[in-house]
Amino acid sequence: MSRTLHAIIRGALVALVLVRLAQAQTTPAQPAAPAAQPAPPTFETKKVEGTDNVYIFRYQNSQAMFVVTRDGVIATDPIGYGRPQAVTTYIDEIKKVTQQPIKYLIYSHHHFDHIAGGKPFKDAGATIIAHKNAKARLAVLQDPATVLPDETVDTTRTIQLGDTALELSYVGLNHSDSSLVMRLPREKIIFAVDFIPVASVPGRGMIDSYPLEWEDSLKTVLAMDWERVIPGHPGPGGRLGTKQDVQNLLTFLQDASAAVKEAAREGKCWDPVEKEMKLPKYESWPGYEQGLPFVLRRYCGLWGRGT
Ligand SMILES: [Zn+2]
Repeated sequence: MSRTLHAIIRGALVALVLVRLAQAQTTPAQPAAPAAQPAPPTFETKKVEGTDNVYIFRYQNSQAMFVVTRDGVIATDPIGYGRPQAVTTYIDEIKKVTQQPIKYLIYSHHHFDHIAGGKPFKDAGATIIAHKNAKARLAVLQDPATVLPDETVDTTRTIQLGDTALELSYVGLNHSDSSLVMRLPREKIIFAVDFIPVASVPGRGMIDSYPLEWEDSLKTVLAMDWERVIPGHPGPGGRLGTKQDVQNLLTFLQDASAAVKEAAREGKCWDPVEKEMKLPKYESWPGYEQGLPFVLRRYCGLWGRGT
């Protein structure tokens, strides 16, 4: 073999080795099997990052905000539906943070999964406040586990305790007819339950919602001065929501509404819409598979029935 040929072969081998090495470096490693996530604890209390007195108490998949002031505690939603131990745990958790008395318990809206079980708060001396529509509904139902509010809010009211102001606002019909937005102006935080699910598709709760007015109430919330929303059910990874989340939800409701409106006018409500319609833009959102039929059913009620 000529020396030239040797040189060519050697050069080719070196090039091949270099290419293989480069491939080895750019080929992504096989992803490791995801480590099994430990089950989250049944309940948890966390101080909201960037605040020195705002807390979230979570029990299973529901949560409530409480605020500690120098003159007492403002608590919200007892979240004790079918589980009175959640309420006593909630109070024990507050006592671990402060010895201040619990002065207020504020209901976010009238649904039992958020407000049942408040008696231990009442027994501890808390004044219970809710929107006037919540009180009207509860007064009729007389649910034995749900304490009637002592005081009500019509459009807006500010609770001043110690150096903390908590502004309660009624922003109209949405997920319910009694939803209050609770806003901490200094911290630029709001607590809003069920009508602002964070980055997830609403589900069963659509049943008694007011879809057209809901859009207006989201626009009202977007115009308020705040930066983070604490939801009534934890968001993905437990994160709080932003105005972008509210805008995304508004767009989702508008998209679902427009799609069902068109189908309804072609006579496709209820079954064809509920069973066949998809909104692929949202299929990556948690709750899409389970929640979408409930969303479509509600919009069929609106556009296919007139309710
Ligand atoms: Zn609700």
